[in-house]
Amino acid sequence: MDRRNPDSHRRCRCLSPGRTGAGPVIYWMSRDQRLKDNWALLWAQEEALLHHKPLQVLFCCMRDYPGANLRHYDFMLQAMAELGQGLRQHNIELVLLAGEPAALLPAYVEQSDAHALVTDFDPLRIKQLWKKQLASRLKVPLFEVDSHNIIPAWVTSDKKEYAAYTIRPKINRLLDDYLTDIPRLRIHPLTCAPPGPSAAPAELLKTVADRQTGPVSWLKPGAAAAAQAAEAFLGKGLAGYALRRNNPCLAGQSGLSPYLHFGQLSAQRLAWLVRHSTAAEQDREAFLEELIVRRELSDNFCLYEPDYDRFAGFPRWARTTLEAHRGDQREYSYSLSQLEQAATHEALWNSCQQDLMIRGKLHGYLRMYWAKKILEWTREPEEALEYAIALNDRYSLDGRDPNGYTGIAWSIGGVHDRAWRERPVFGKVRYMNLAGCRRKFDVEGYINSVGR
Ligand SMILES: Cc1cc2nc3c(=O)[nH]c(=O)nc-3n(C[C@H](O)[C@H](O)[C@H](O)COP(=O)(O)OP(=O)(O)OC[C@H]3O[C@@H](n4cnc5c(N)ncnc54)[C@H](O)[C@@H]3O)c2cc1C
Repeated sequence: MDRRNPDSHRRCRCLSPGRTGAGPVIYWMSRDQRLKDNWALLWAQEEALLHHKPLQVLFCCMRDYPGANLRHYDFMLQAMAELGQGLRQHNIELVLLAGEPAALLPAYVEQSDAHALVTDFDPLRIKQLWKKQLASRLKVPLFEVDSHNIIPAWVTSDKKEYAAYTIRPKINRLLDDYLTDIPRLRIHPLTCAPPGPSAAPAELLKTVADRQTGPVSWLKPGAAAAAQAAEAFLGKGLAGYALRRNNPCLAGQSGLSPYLHFGQLSAQRLAWLVRHSTAAEQDREAFLEELIVRRELSDNFCLYEPDYDRFAGFPRWARTTLEAHRGDQREYSYSLSQLEQAATHEALWNSCQQDLMIRGKLHGYLRMYWAKKILEWTREPEEALEYAIALNDRYSLDGRDPNGYTGIAWSIGGVHDRAWRERPVFGKVRYMNLAGCRRKFDVEGYINSVGR
């Protein structure tokens, strides 16, 4: 009899069938880099227990993952030591390999005579490509478990959603059923030695190709620090979130996106804690709207829109209006390097860019403003999109994320938005300006705070 937990089983899908080997179940950890509250790890353990197999966790670290630099690798690899230790306490080995997963995994799986390969879900192009390659190269079954979304992205919807108002009812229909407590990982009863040595995180860090952007020190990486930050937010920050979150001078956001991006914190655990907290209903609802609806909408966009980071991925109305305004005279036009050096005519925008470079995190309201000005001050929308993605991915600790590609596509290409009053350059894409910022928050106060 299959004694699997239905809660983890319904989050799993088989990407390719195959013949199981005699060795361990291997969990190729990628997006969800944590031990606790990880459905992919839980499913892999259940599969191993059911078939009396050892369990291994494998992480492949490329020295040149697209868009990633020392800032990101430092945050990620510092957390790996803590993860390895925690897994060892559960009798599970963490193996770190240097290289590209699609190239390394088939040989590793074969040498281990693995029972099956399990991985977590990620809608981004490169991850989807690797899984496709693995599905054709592996002889053992390949399973994918969505441990990042509360409801698996393919269960919520089987198509690209138009906007928050179309995905929200689909999520709400399933949410009570899926937003459950999450079982604990068990101490695994069986072990086995990996076929080769594991790389040390510090050694992997030395090999990182892009070292131009340095680490940040204001945020401690790892699951323990993430849990502490979440607790602090629940204790203090959540009260007033609905009113404060859009004011960059009030530190009204949770600041948890780097932990969520690297999977060091489970969105489901966070949502569960928020739902059961004593905070006012309007604060809980406002936060869960961002954490669940907006975040899962981003995954939906990247999963079902192959051009999520290109002009072709914008809705038709936005492409038409941007096309009609392609030839409009730009009052200012900046190169990527001028933007990167925060050398525009406008102090607020320059401060946003500096904030991003120094801290690796920009307030959500300012992110919209920052991206929209890039549309206004570059020669064409394709260039704006390219520059915004390049800068966001390079400097944001939480960059290279579906939220980033979707947020930029919202700002520049009207994705998940509607048409507004027509104006130069933007056409009908929503416009933002300095006067609007002044009405919303203390612009000078923000400018003076940057870098302090
Ligand atoms: C131009 C632009 C670029 C962006 N780039 C990124 C990025 O690279 N990485 C990233 O994680 N987010 C990005 N966002 C979305 C959003 O701004 C951030 O998720 C948020 O500011 C993160 O800070 P926080 O955790 O303190 O947010 P909180 O307000 O505390 O929200 C909690 C969580 O909810 C989710 N969330 C909040 N706002 C959004 C949103 N608009 N869309 C999707 N999910 C949301 C995030 O997971 C966030 O961590 C971008 C938005 C825009 C407009």
